[in-house]
Amino acid sequence: MDIDLECRRCPLSEGRIKVVTPDGDVRSPVCFVGEAPGKNEDVEGRPFVGRAGKMLDRLLEEEGLPRNLIMITNTVKCRPPNNRVPTRGEREACLPYLQQELRGRKLVVGLGRTACSNLMGRDVKLMDEANVVSKVMIGGEQVEFLPTYHPSACLFNLRAREGLREAIKLVRDRYL
Ligand code: URA
Repeated sequence: MDIDLECRRCPLSEGRIKVVTPDGDVRSPVCFVGEAPGKNEDVEGRPFVGRAGKMLDRLLEEEGLPRNLIMITNTVKCRPPNNRVPTRGEREACLPYLQQELRGRKLVVGLGRTACSNLMGRDVKLMDEANVVSKVMIGGEQVEFLPTYHPSACLFNLRAREGLREAIKLVRDRYL
């Protein structure tokens, strides 16, 4: 389903400023999926432009992977109040948009537990499962999936930061 900038499929629409649409190369073989827009994203309508986005940009740059070679989107396209985790109902309401965005990708990278659990269809423990590629079904298509750490976790957790860095290297070396 094409994204509707006036979408009212869930209650997140009531508090949003802008629907946050995908960024980067929308035809890239690789798509990174975050959790939900924060304050800055809500204002700009672009994903990962705030503090977490700066961390993601820094790691991409340090590992020589230009942000414009990948596509970046979120599990839900509207900001949850006080940046709370999106509910199952909100994730389900947004899933048709996400499925459409991910169609035909070679690799989907899940950033953080919410994105990974949403796309793997079960509760994912990144401590055990980060940076291991598996195959998942998304919108009736099998696609390779790489679960890894969310850039927000990388702000204060060096282990998460090195984990996300390893994921970026893997993407750079094997998928682009
Ligand atoms: N910004 C986003 O766009 N997504 C997140 O998951 C966090 C910050």
